[in-house]
Amino acid sequence: MPSSNKKSQIHTEKNATYMNPKQLKHFLGLLKAWLQQLEDETQQVLSEIKDEETHCPDMIDRANAEEQLSLEILTNQRDSRVIDRIKLSISDIEQSLNDPSHHSYGYCKRCKNEIGIERLEARLIANLCIECKKYQEVIEEQTQT
Ligand SMILES: [Zn+2]
Repeated sequence: MPSSNKKSQIHTEKNATYMNPKQLKHFLGLLKAWLQQLEDETQQVLSEIKDEETHCPDMIDRANAEEQLSLEILTNQRDSRVIDRIKLSISDIEQSLNDPSHHSYGYCKRCKNEIGIERLEARLIANLCIECKKYQEVIEEQTQT
């Protein structure tokens, strides 16, 4: 995760072009670190599952372990969706670095406006600006009720 030092560096460059190569590389580094962290955690969960399978012959332990297991699988599924989004963001950034006219990472998928550095810092995989995100939430609420 980002050091507060690095964060302020990006923020103080008031006149910098939005999503210039330096900023793109900054976010690329953060995304890659996050991806690595999630993949490490996934590996850890998988090895814990193996341990539990071999180390609980007792029936009660077995039931507890299975409950624990399904929780971990749920977490894993959520993580794998996040991992997909991270990978997509990484490839968007790499395309933008190769071709500066290619605007994707940091731009809203719906209205094509800038998402904003602060919003991206808070949510690296954001692909909607705050207005479109709010709009989407309203639509989702209406379709659910
Ligand atoms: Zn938007």
